[in-house]
Amino acid sequence: MLTVGEKLRLRKAHPCGSTDWEVLKPGVDVRLRCLGCGRILLLPREKVLKQIKKRLDAAESRGKQG
Ligand SMILES: [Zn+2]
Repeated sequence: MLTVGEKLRLRKAHPCGSTDWEVLKPGVDVRLRCLGCGRILLLPREKVLKQIKKRLDAAESRGKQG
């Protein structure tokens, strides 16, 4: 479901304003890093899965940048 390095856009924004997160460690609790400010957060997987608005495909964004 979740893989290391995967980038997610969540419905809930971090206080810094960013809604994009990188998965650092999937598991029962998922470790996420905020791509806006770099803070690391631990959230229950069920909660993360419910919060996902969009999965940001890393390979796709790399392709667009050339
Ligand atoms: Zn943040």
